[in-house]
Amino acid sequence: MAYDIKMIKEVYKQMEMRINAARAVVGNPLTLSEKILYSHLFEGTSSIAYERGKSYVDFAPDRVTMQDATAQMALLQFMQAGKKQVAVPSTVHCDHLILAKSGAKEDLKNSINASKEVFDFLASVSSKYGIGFWKPGAGIIHQVILENYAFPGGMMIGTDSHTVNAGGLCMVAIGVGGADAVDVMAGLPWELKFPKLIGVHLTGKMSGWTSAKDVILKVAGILTVKGGTGAIVEYFGDGAESLSCTGKGTICNMGAEIGATTSTFGYDNKMSEYLRGTDRAEIADMANEISSHLTGDKEVYANPDEYFDQVIEINLSELEPYINGPFTPDLATPISKFADAVKENNWPAKLEVGLIGSCTNSSYEDISRAASLAKQAVDKKLKTKSDFTITPGSEMVRYTVERDGYLEQFEKIGGIVLANACGPCIGQWARHTNDPDKKNSIITSFNRNFAKRNDGNPNTHAFVASPELVTAMTISGDLTFNPLTDSLINEDGEAVMFDEPTGLEMPPKGFDVKDLGFQSPAEDGSAIEVVVNPESKRLQLLTPFKPWDGKNIEGMKLLIKAKGKCTTDHISMAGPWLRFRGHLDNISDNTLTGALNYFNEKTDSVKNQITGEYGSVPATQRAYKEAGIPTIVVGDHNYGEGSSREHAAMQPRHLGVRIILVKSFARIHETNLKKQGMLGLTFDIESDYDKILEDDTIDLMELTSFSPGKSLTLVLNHFDGTTDSIEVNHSYNEGQIAWFKAGSALNLIKQQEN
Ligand code: SF4
Repeated sequence: MAYDIKMIKEVYKQMEMRINAARAVVGNPLTLSEKILYSHLFEGTSSIAYERGKSYVDFAPDRVTMQDATAQMALLQFMQAGKKQVAVPSTVHCDHLILAKSGAKEDLKNSINASKEVFDFLASVSSKYGIGFWKPGAGIIHQVILENYAFPGGMMIGTDSHTVNAGGLCMVAIGVGGADAVDVMAGLPWELKFPKLIGVHLTGKMSGWTSAKDVILKVAGILTVKGGTGAIVEYFGDGAESLSCTGKGTICNMGAEIGATTSTFGYDNKMSEYLRGTDRAEIADMANEISSHLTGDKEVYANPDEYFDQVIEINLSELEPYINGPFTPDLATPISKFADAVKENNWPAKLEVGLIGSCTNSSYEDISRAASLAKQAVDKKLKTKSDFTITPGSEMVRYTVERDGYLEQFEKIGGIVLANACGPCIGQWARHTNDPDKKNSIITSFNRNFAKRNDGNPNTHAFVASPELVTAMTISGDLTFNPLTDSLINEDGEAVMFDEPTGLEMPPKGFDVKDLGFQSPAEDGSAIEVVVNPESKRLQLLTPFKPWDGKNIEGMKLLIKAKGKCTTDHISMAGPWLRFRGHLDNISDNTLTGALNYFNEKTDSVKNQITGEYGSVPATQRAYKEAGIPTIVVGDHNYGEGSSREHAAMQPRHLGVRIILVKSFARIHETNLKKQGMLGLTFDIESDYDKILEDDTIDLMELTSFSPGKSLTLVLNHFDGTTDSIEVNHSYNEGQIAWFKAGSALNLIKQQEN
């Protein structure tokens, strides 16, 4: 389990040198975010005069983390790279594939049975390649990372959007797609657009009902779900220093909900205490020695407007608790106005379920504060009106809060303790309800509340608040209840009020745990055979894509001309297809099924030029593949926007599509296509999109002289015997052309390895 102290020492050794080099170029002073970014430039990256929001820069993250759903394809790909070990410390965490239904013990047992082959695969591949493996039940990835691996000044990428949680321990931690994780594990640079910087100045001190969660709920209300896009949010000020380390984690965690690249806080005493409390005193000692590098320069924080692209001021002494939602995390309402909002908007006032925990809010502090309210409910003879679940973030927290009597407090008011896993937060929730389509309200301390996120019901109004507010509302069973001002009637018919919640940041007797649920990798994994059952429906070992045959591509048929928006969700749908994320052939049966066919304005209905009949996109493409006919996909603007998942590039490649030709690409998808050995091309003249007809046969000429900056020509042979020649552009550099020729980036890495 041990964190890699050698690696951290090296990072700290490099920091001073690299920060000084950066100062020499960009001048004094520097923000914390810039210090961490400049300390992690990939070896050999020369210039550091980057333009925020514009320049693409190569970085060298210190660590990679993967959750079970996304790790499958990432590791299947990594196996193709021909490496013996991962190049940076990496871990896999089994948390997303655990269904919440009856309670921790039963749910864990059933989920392990249901996903055994996936967990076994992840365990063996991790052991072989030097990757730490956290078993089902060990905890939710981000909580486990904060407790074990996050360190001040580090840079981390992870295949989950809430990787950003580690900003609570002064990291630059960023959620990425699996292909990026593979690159970093294989020792390649990781590219990121140099972020813009948003400063959040926190003054004052919280008290009473207000908690760290309310800071980010307020920030979400200010910035909205798009306001942080392409930016790092850097928190600073006296108020920031007064927040617990785990509270800072909560704030950074939910930074994903405002679209931020990541969020971070400067290193302070609270972080030092947390490191010591989680058995990492040596990191705290080392961080103390270089503490000036682990925070922004004084001049920056004295005149933030000069150094940040945007500055937000929040006085914690005046901050009210917030409730955000429904259906979006940026609809922020202070508790004093919430009852009116419920009535005005006709939101269902009866609260059906309250859920606390998740990676966002399950620290010792969160649990102890929420438990103080549960205890009051018992003492004041209040009966809990709504269902109540508790999801601990890790086995270490679960064990400790059980030892300290907090879980018992919840159980006394009818709370059900779920497994240490994502469960209801990711829709893995078999909710007990008589009418699954009924309009209803729930409240959670999670981070996301989009329609259907928790229980799949579009009529569920999900609200987000702090664990203490969720607990009080759950006891009342009423969304219009304000625990700060309202009383409840107890079993004796008396009106009683809650006192303010109280809690402890850290356990006075220290954290404890019997079994962390960690499996160390083998010392020498070379003899470990990663076994995947060839009959498996969920996992499939990858076969390397074929290298380019050295010829132009002639006789291509048009598979689909997609009209309008075509995101990675249109190219590779999520939902029920999630279970095939580790099986390329099976998941390929959803390829482009969400894209709108330009010619008939229908989804998943394209003309098969062999038979003249219309059929589904994947079936039609499989027919072309079977007949040895190459194909082309045509798209509109910003093709491939949305999630960065590599499946959207791998699936067309697997099915035999040769070219994706569009008006413009979303950048990450374009790079993913290049990595998978596909040709991603753009129209030189946008209106040439109109020249592509449904029955066209298309030839790509001049591929034999494919070179950087040189456009190519496509000949469109129309059904009526006429032809059109159109110019198409590409953005491949020498290295990317080498990927194309080798069949994929991984093929090339493997060739170079041998
Ligand atoms: S608890 Fe929720 S937000 Fe956290 S990792 Fe799991 S699914 Fe994501």
